[in-house]
Amino acid sequence: MEIREYLEKNLDNLKSDLSRLVKIPSVSTDREGEYPFGRECGRVLDEFLQIAEERGFTVKNLDYYAGSADLYPEGDALLGILAHLDVVPVTEKSWSVPPFEMTEKEGRLYGRGVEDDKGPLLAAMWAMKAIKECGFKLKGNVRLIAGCSEETGTELDLREYCKREKMPKNVFTPDAEFPLITTEKGMLRFTFGGRTLTEKIIGIKGGTVVNAVPDRVTAILRGKISLSPEEGITSYNEDGNTVIVCGGKSAHASTPAQGENAFTKLFKYLSAIEELTEGDRKLTESLLKLFPHGETNAAALDLAVEDRSGETTCVFSIIDLREGQLTAKADMRFPVSLNKARCSEKIKAAVEGAGFELLNITGSEPHSVDENSEFVRALLAAYAEVTGKPAFCKAIGGGTYVHNIEGGVAFGMEVEGEDNHIHGDDEWVGVDTLLTAAEIYAKAILGILGE
Ligand SMILES: [Zn+2]
Repeated sequence: MEIREYLEKNLDNLKSDLSRLVKIPSVSTDREGEYPFGRECGRVLDEFLQIAEERGFTVKNLDYYAGSADLYPEGDALLGILAHLDVVPVTEKSWSVPPFEMTEKEGRLYGRGVEDDKGPLLAAMWAMKAIKECGFKLKGNVRLIAGCSEETGTELDLREYCKREKMPKNVFTPDAEFPLITTEKGMLRFTFGGRTLTEKIIGIKGGTVVNAVPDRVTAILRGKISLSPEEGITSYNEDGNTVIVCGGKSAHASTPAQGENAFTKLFKYLSAIEELTEGDRKLTESLLKLFPHGETNAAALDLAVEDRSGETTCVFSIIDLREGQLTAKADMRFPVSLNKARCSEKIKAAVEGAGFELLNITGSEPHSVDENSEFVRALLAAYAEVTGKPAFCKAIGGGTYVHNIEGGVAFGMEVEGEDNHIHGDDEWVGVDTLLTAAEIYAKAILGILGE
């Protein structure tokens, strides 16, 4: 039987497997007993391993950090497919369907995790099964690895997996988009601050997460000050003081040019207010010096670089000023021709040059895989064969599940230009996308390991 035909015949099985996983609200939490990421992540792993066993795989539970399903358990796996079973939380009232129940409507499946990443995990599992059932022979084992804590970003599941098992030499993750991601920028997050000598500015607060362009910030100025209105900025009096609310436009930290930073807009506005004292002015000017309004490429930090992986981006994303004490955070993504040490050095110099202290800096180096390797070529060929679309390697500013796995690439399964509401309300996946992805994965496995 042909792979596609087999997959179509088993579509109802694939859907019922997926609905079993969607039913479990597997949001990763703190350890509960034997479950390092909480009871629900434990339950979802048990359920997945049960499904895989029912479908003929040899399974292993790695102390609830991760699990594995092997197609041919003899010998080391030559190819690993890495997906995850945990999901992000939901705002239930914003969903039009129950988030933890799979709903099918007009060719789409809805439910938390159907695209990120339970659906792709099962598309890969059914691809493996199709190969076996259709009678193809492989040169070695393929291992499906199911992590239980991708969404927290700690990579604890992967680290613990690597303590117990070997990561295969070739790994792809179906936890991103097609065609293929081979390059990911490096990332740094830094916290800076210190005492300020502000007099008029009593407090400033804004930003909720470090990896997004802030779309709102509030400042409180001492006394009643009459201000000239400006678009997106409102002010009012409260308890004898002046409150300024400044709005911008949110965007992901990897694509800050798509947003407008509310903080830098506020500082630009504040710097024109006559009533400010020398200490107030020093603060606004210093912050604008580090993060000029409208600039997103870290030129002010002397780190504006552009290469094949894109250009540096930097976002001032969290601020908290109270009682003369400033704490602020920023997120930076840097291209492959820079490294962590060089960026950290420049950031430190710029922050100190502006009169602040660098309190903390963490991050990861860029990730890059040879675009001409046989492995990469086999993946691209499978994509082109099944979809008839051009296959190419991409560079992104975000980090995928394989960011710290040497040689790892991200391969689907979101279709380019399609918005599956990943992490949002009404997350969905096209039934046909699921089938096509499974077919691509099967062809890719055959391209890499087929005899
Ligand atoms: Zn994911």
